This record gives sequence, C-alpha cells and structure tokens, in this order.
Amino acid sequence: MDGLMKGKRGLVMGVANDHSIAWGIARKLSEHGAELAFTYQGDAFGRRVKPLAEKLGASLVVPCDVEDSASVAATFETLGKEWGGLDFVVHAIGFSDKNELKGLYADTSRDNFVRTMVISCYSFTEIARHAAALMSDGGAMITLTYAGSVRVMPNYNVMGVAKAGLEASVRYLANDYGPRGIRVNGISAGPVRTLAGAGISDARHMYSYQQRNSPLRRTVTIDEVGGSALYLLSDLSSGVTGEIHYVDSGYHIVSMPTLDELKQ
Ligand code: NAD
Repeated sequence: MDGLMKGKRGLVMGVANDHSIAWGIARKLSEHGAELAFTYQGDAFGRRVKPLAEKLGASLVVPCDVEDSASVAATFETLGKEWGGLDFVVHAIGFSDKNELKGLYADTSRDNFVRTMVISCYSFTEIARHAAALMSDGGAMITLTYAGSVRVMPNYNVMGVAKAGLEASVRYLANDYGPRGIRVNGISAGPVRTLAGAGISDARHMYSYQQRNSPLRRTVTIDEVGGSALYLLSDLSSGVTGEIHYVDSGYHIVSMPTLDELKQ
C-alpha cells in the first residue's frame, strides 16, 4: 500500500503541535509519498510547526490566519507561484472563545458566534475556492468535524452549530466542484486530546465516557484519523464525495450507555 500519494502535492492547514490531528494526517500522507506544504497561525505556532514540517521534508511553510481573507489569498498565491498546481488540501482549523464552550448554548454572544463561524466554518469554503482554482486536474479536500454537529454534546455549544454549517458546506462544495473532478469530504473524529480539544469545558469527561461506551471501548489516535484521511485524499476513494466519515471508535451508532455504565 506504499506510495498511494506518490506524485501528489498538498497543503496541510491546522498543525499547532505534534498532538494536532493535522499532524497525524500529515505524517500518514508523507509516509505514503505526498509532498507537503504547511500553514501556521502566527509566529508562536510557527516556531513549533517549522521543525515538524522539516521532519517531513516540507517544501513550503507559510503563515496563514483564516480570519483575514488577504492572508488566505496570499497563501494560495504563494502555492500557485511555487507549485503551479495542487492535488489536495487538509483543513483542520477550528476556534471559539473557551468562555462560551461551557454553560448554555443559548448564552452565546453575537461576536463569538460570528467569529466561530468565520474561523471554523466559512474558512473551509474560502480555502476550497482558492484551492480549486489550482486543481486543474481534479483533486481532493477534507475538513475535520465533530458529532456535536448532529447531536447535543455538553459544552460544545456554538462549535456544534459551526460544525453543522461546516458539514453542510462539505455537501455544497462537493456538488459545486464534482463536475471538475474535485472531491470534498469531512472526517468526524471522536474526542482527541489536543489544544483545541482542551478548550471545551470538562472535555476529559467526554473523553473517558467515550472510552467506556463506544463499541471499540477506546478513543481514536491521530494516526487512525490520518489513515482515514489517506483514504479520502488518495485515489482509493475516487468514487466518494460529499461524505462525512466517522472515525470515532463507532461511538456515533450508540444510543445508550453500556449496561455496565447504566447499572453503576
Ligand atoms: P489543534 O489545536 O491542534 O488544531 C487547531 C488548529 O486551528 C490550530 O493549528 C490553530 O492554529 C488553528 N486555528 C485556529 N484559529 C485559526 C485562525 N484564525 N487561522 C488559522 N488557523 C487557526 O486541535 P485539533 O483538535 O487537532 O483541531 C483540528 C480540527 O479538528 C478542528 O477543526 C477541530 O474542531 C477538529 N476536531 C477536533 C476533535 C478533538 O477532539 N480534538 C474532534 C473532532 C474534530
């Protein structure tokens, strides 16, 4: 199965450190021969991302803040100049004010609602538009989502609403770009201990609940998410688009806690 990504070039957005889901994905894509470019959000993240990118022999490492359209446009301008074309994009970006990732969803402020939507939802559409312009021979894009989009998860609040919009965007973008041979999919990952994950109040309880109650009785690793990303970005999934693929130890199929948990 080696070399699935040989000859393919892609951009990975959303590595903050070596715990990031995007890092698990990048490693897997690199193992299979992909040539990678990375973005980082600001200098502080840049200091962590650059050495990681070097480990995988990245051709390009550029700053990009998705709150700023000019920064997104500049990233793709650089890619266009350096590579001329693009085969895939990984969007693993999300943000909301952690003060609103607790308590009632109903208390979400207008400002944080808008900011969360721009960074966690709209950025994928803007990135897809720029990326598609570089994909003259077709391509593939993925984003990362969470089941709080379709079911209520404690404290996930406005992020759940943003992820619902993100998943709908996957379907609309898949339909927009399908005629050009560009596939767009989402991975709905189970809880993973990352910087973004830590922003959700009481995340550790959700983590251990999933360990006890998912069919596989454990959480997933960033390598496992990477494996599914490899499938969705390689030609193995050439007939798949507009899909939300769960990588969550099967948790999303379960409607009740285990009997052991209920009897406690
Ligand atoms: P992470 O903190 O490692 O990554 C989040 C990334 O978003 C960081 O690299 C950060 O720099 C980037 N980001 C935030 N605001 C940005 C901005 N304005 N411009 C550019 N980049 C910005 O955490 P992660 O858990 O690996 O998150 C990656 C994605 O996976 C997110 O979309 C998250 O919602 C999603 N996800 C996470 C989990 C989980 O449990 N950790 C589960 C399902 C989905």
